[in-house]
Amino acid sequence: MIIIKSAQEIELMRQAGRIAAQVLLDLSRAIRPGITTAYLDNLARRLIKSHQAKAAFLGYHGFPASICTSLNNEVVHGIPGLRRLAEGDIISIDVGVSYKGYFSDAACTFPVGKISPLAQKLIDVTRGSLLRGIKKAVPGNHLYDISSAIQTYVEKHGFSVVRNYVGHGIGSAMHEEPQVPNFVPPGKGPLLGEGMVLAIEPMVNTGTWKVRTLEDQWTVVTGDNGLSAHFEHTVAILKDGPEILTTL
Ligand code: MG
Repeated sequence: MIIIKSAQEIELMRQAGRIAAQVLLDLSRAIRPGITTAYLDNLARRLIKSHQAKAAFLGYHGFPASICTSLNNEVVHGIPGLRRLAEGDIISIDVGVSYKGYFSDAACTFPVGKISPLAQKLIDVTRGSLLRGIKKAVPGNHLYDISSAIQTYVEKHGFSVVRNYVGHGIGSAMHEEPQVPNFVPPGKGPLLGEGMVLAIEPMVNTGTWKVRTLEDQWTVVTGDNGLSAHFEHTVAILKDGPEILTTL
């Protein structure tokens, strides 16, 4: 069942979303060659606390950090640690917070210094696919209209969308129904309606869409070690169309 949120609930999610967006912005300003991903995690923990919010990922199914940091061929769920960022890397940071009982979820892939043209194109296409998906998050559309817009845009640019991980409904729980795939399954998916809130999150690879999980049981990497990018917004479906909640 897809839980419909009231205007008051969406206002709380707007506040949670603003915090996630501010944290991502502050983290992006700290990115430079030489710092460790653990440094970013410590910074995220302090930033989230400064907003009287909680890091939603910390302890979630045993995840050991406040954010996910996924570099280069890593798709999602990378664990912050002693690895140092190097010039030319791309780093996907996924932030989830809870605030006054409601969750927000946002991710962005950032360049570390000067990056290759392919990496830049991957970032641009993944961000572009998210924005195209969000545009379809309107009452009266079907869920897979979002999926189709994302997949079509990504594949038109010669990249692939990850199938094994999908977006999700979000509210007083981090993960609610429905699943929000970035590819089109059979059928149309549920009818979208006012008051639904979705975390839409394309994960896009330069090569194969296939992925595998490393021995740490968390880090998901591309099957061919090609690059991967990840953009995510928490989006409310309102009467007049979508509102991105994870923004300033
Ligand atoms: Mg998510």
